[in-house]
Amino acid sequence: MANWQRGVLRLMGVRNHAVEVVSIKDFTPWYRRIVFSAPEFVRGLDVFPTLWLRLWVPNPARGEGEVSQRGYTFVDVRPGDGTFALDFVLHETAGPAGEWARRAEPGEKLEAALTPAKISVPDGTTAVLLAGDATALPAITSWLAHVPDTVAVRVYLEDSHDDHLALPQEPRAGTEFTWVTPDGERGAALAAAITAAESAAPDRYAWAAGERSLVKAVRPVFRDHLGLDRSHSFTQSYWIEGRSAG
Ligand SMILES: Cc1cc2nc3c(=O)[nH]c(=O)nc-3n(C[C@H](O)[C@H](O)[C@H](O)COP(=O)(O)OP(=O)(O)OC[C@H]3O[C@@H](n4cnc5c(N)ncnc54)[C@H](O)[C@@H]3O)c2cc1C
Repeated sequence: MANWQRGVLRLMGVRNHAVEVVSIKDFTPWYRRIVFSAPEFVRGLDVFPTLWLRLWVPNPARGEGEVSQRGYTFVDVRPGDGTFALDFVLHETAGPAGEWARRAEPGEKLEAALTPAKISVPDGTTAVLLAGDATALPAITSWLAHVPDTVAVRVYLEDSHDDHLALPQEPRAGTEFTWVTPDGERGAALAAAITAAESAAPDRYAWAAGERSLVKAVRPVFRDHLGLDRSHSFTQSYWIEGRSAG
């Protein structure tokens, strides 16, 4: 998003908040957690699963001083410390957010804007199915931190790396994680794995996010195979293969 769009968001009343890098932790060479300090911003947060922000990152390819916004999901929000964290997939094709995260240093300051769109899970939900690619793992982490212990959670993730055990996995009894190796079209193996392992069940809610084709492959599985209508499922495209977010 170019700088004029910052102006539009400002006119719409979307506030920018200063955030400062506090610490950086690499779970794997390609998955990095950055902790930010922003006490006033964090105190005002209504934290719920999948809550995300728009981070304004430098985009030098667009010109000096230019910034672009990218979506990232809150994890490990600590109101007492005035901090929150974002998990970055450090993807190979360069983009301003990934490159910024690769080079970030404590003390660096950015701005972030909040546009909360609350997830609505029907009352009486007893099981949750979460699916996606690595960019959905932070949101899945946030689901696992919030879903009551009485709700069964199954997680299906498609990714080609072989170091998944090193990734953050929110400790939660009874959660089953299945990592699926991509095979053919993006999302095809994920859709096949969910179809093979799951069948329609009452009081289930399903959520999926990630690359657009992957989400497109999973959507009919939720609708047709699991029989879930829109009040019992939600899917969101997080990024598009071969296309910069602008
Ligand atoms: C609501 C929401 C929440 C999100 N939460 C997270 C999160 O918590 N963590 C996270 O890592 N991402 C998250 N994303 C996805 C992230 O915003 C995109 O991956 C974004 O495009 C990265 O920006 P960039 O500047 O690095 O690359 P861009 O400039 O957007 O893209 C440059 C190139 O890199 C490719 N690319 C972009 N992302 C990826 C990727 N993940 N893997 C491989 N290739 C890629 C593009 O296809 C393009 O070819 C979220 C997106 C949304 C909408």
